[in-house]
Amino acid sequence: MSSEQVALSIVIPVFNEAEMLPKLFQELGRVRAGTLRGEGPLEIVLVDDGSKDSSWNLISAQCQRDPAYIGVRFSRNFGHQVALAAGLETARGSVIVSMDADLQDPPDVILEMLAAHRQGYDVVYATRATRGTEPWGKRVSAKFFYYAIEKLSGVPIPRNTGDFRLMSRRSLMELMKLRESHRFLRGLVPWIGFPQTQIFYDRADRTGGETHYPWHKMMRLAIDGIASMSQAPLRLAYAVSLMLFAVFVGYILYAFIKHLVVGTELVPGWTSIMSAITIFGTIQLLLLGVFGEYLGRVYEQVKNRPLYVVQEIRRAAQEGNTTTT
Ligand code: UDP
Ligand code: MG
Repeated sequence: MSSEQVALSIVIPVFNEAEMLPKLFQELGRVRAGTLRGEGPLEIVLVDDGSKDSSWNLISAQCQRDPAYIGVRFSRNFGHQVALAAGLETARGSVIVSMDADLQDPPDVILEMLAAHRQGYDVVYATRATRGTEPWGKRVSAKFFYYAIEKLSGVPIPRNTGDFRLMSRRSLMELMKLRESHRFLRGLVPWIGFPQTQIFYDRADRTGGETHYPWHKMMRLAIDGIASMSQAPLRLAYAVSLMLFAVFVGYILYAFIKHLVVGTELVPGWTSIMSAITIFGTIQLLLLGVFGEYLGRVYEQVKNRPLYVVQEIRRAAQEGNTTTT
């Protein structure tokens, strides 16, 4: 298949989804024969993000069976956002849709996304009208997080929108120019601009396997999101230190005047000194942490490492199986 022939690419990151994959293949087969039949040649790019289960065996068997499938295998787990980036880079379609492997994003919605694309939108987000029975904590934290990141970055980020989205070839080309190592695609895609819109769908619960976003990974995503989209926390550090400086100067003046007018005893100063040390110590550590977060990013970026390492690529038999390291 040459690149001009692929009308639609579907990109799916996969991490320990052996339980879900047969169902996923079946679902994709169904929409291909059904709603997506008239959409021209289609390819499905599966990126195995270093799965420890039999996901890769299932993917490579599927690639053997069906030339529309392309399998990319990472040498280890690089994370969802990076796997997604690799899939988008591999995709050759003139329209590219990314979705999750767990069928929480129903492939039938792709048809509606294509319809919106035909009306002239380069990016179409599929937004969850409902979130199934996701735990209460996840809903609230997601709400807060989207609000914070939007306020801090000044880039409007569609709410309740994961990585289920359609992109035109030209918007994808722009996205691929952003080579930052801590990526938060949900913020970067609105950043590139072009006409963008959203459609709504009901998000189902995971029908098998379990979430790979435990709390610590969600926190990581949140910090990456905020720090990659905004320098507000750095400015906060600046503002807080200025404010403290004023307080500090005030306190010194007060102490001097008191010393000159009343005269000081040694022991009674203990409380104020201790509280000052504690407060300043804590705040300095906090601000150092903020600096560290950004410094770490600069360090990562300066190292200029590739985003990921591919161990193996599997695509249609006539092109041969390539192995890269
Ligand atoms: N995923 C991945 N690498 C990871 C974690 C997840 O490629 O380190 C994939 C996973 O296989 C799925 C998608 O990212 O296709 C979303 O993950 P999940 O469904 O676990 O997240 P949730 O829907 O619970 O937010
Ligand atoms: Mg999921």
